[in-house]
Amino acid sequence: MSRFANKIAVVTGAGRGIGQEIARKLASEGAKVAVVSRSASSCGKAAEEINKEFPGSATAYDVDVADHQAVQDLAARITNEIGAPNILINNAGVTRDTLLMRMKEEDWDTVIDTNLKGAFNTVKGFMRTLMKAEDPRIINIASVIGLIGNAGQANYSASKAGLIGFTKAVARELAGRSVTCNAVAPGFITTDMTDELSDAVKEAVLAKIPLGTFGQTTDIAELVAYLASPAARYITGQVIAVDGGMTM
Ligand code: NAP
Repeated sequence: MSRFANKIAVVTGAGRGIGQEIARKLASEGAKVAVVSRSASSCGKAAEEINKEFPGSATAYDVDVADHQAVQDLAARITNEIGAPNILINNAGVTRDTLLMRMKEEDWDTVIDTNLKGAFNTVKGFMRTLMKAEDPRIINIASVIGLIGNAGQANYSASKAGLIGFTKAVARELAGRSVTCNAVAPGFITTDMTDELSDAVKEAVLAKIPLGTFGQTTDIAELVAYLASPAARYITGQVIAVDGGMTM
């Protein structure tokens, strides 16, 4: 049985990494997926790769989630071109890591505007459609750093902690319309975002992971697919860490 037959999903930040794997996973089980990222080349390439495996499942949309009006227009476009979405995955995220002493206003604004305001923008854009959809789901990709904080990531920690608060408020507001809203908090997952870190930082992180290994994008996509499926209808307002035991 395809869990997502006749379902339409929107995945932001799906041009590579965790978002691309989530889009691929949903497409592999029958969903039509809107693959959203900032650059046309990255979402175009990701959609092409997904379509090679699951023909006709993916459509690329190059939109900056931080741009409120562009996201409202995107919601209308996706609904016209693919259909009314059942599933919204807020995964787009950036880092601008540096100690507070050196953090510039733009480092703060870019991270908050993408990671936190981006989710507000998409929920505003898609909420009316989701409220009428079958098995409506919102899943926000937060981070364990939003739970425990991290030196050098004040902007990122605040954005992800904010996203967790937003998740719970949305879960409460939309529960009456059967829309569930949950957050997944990845630990250290091997992607371009974490490849940037030095070997010394990676070793220090690894020492704190009881399962003794970094996570893969598939570890996140598996949980997201479960939360997006009809089987997860009674789970809402939760934050689930996928971190090899790092924050237990
Ligand atoms: P990644 O490899 O850097 O990919 C990020 C994706 O987000 C790219 O497709 C990028 O698009 C897109 N994006 C960035 N800013 C955007 C914007 N303003 N509008 C639309 N799309 C935008 O990141 P990742 O490691 O897969 O992380 C995905 C999510 O998981 C993020 O929210 C991240 O904070 C979270 N997370 C990751 C880890 C980890 O260990 N990797 C841990 C905890 C949480 P372009 O290609 O167009 O730039």
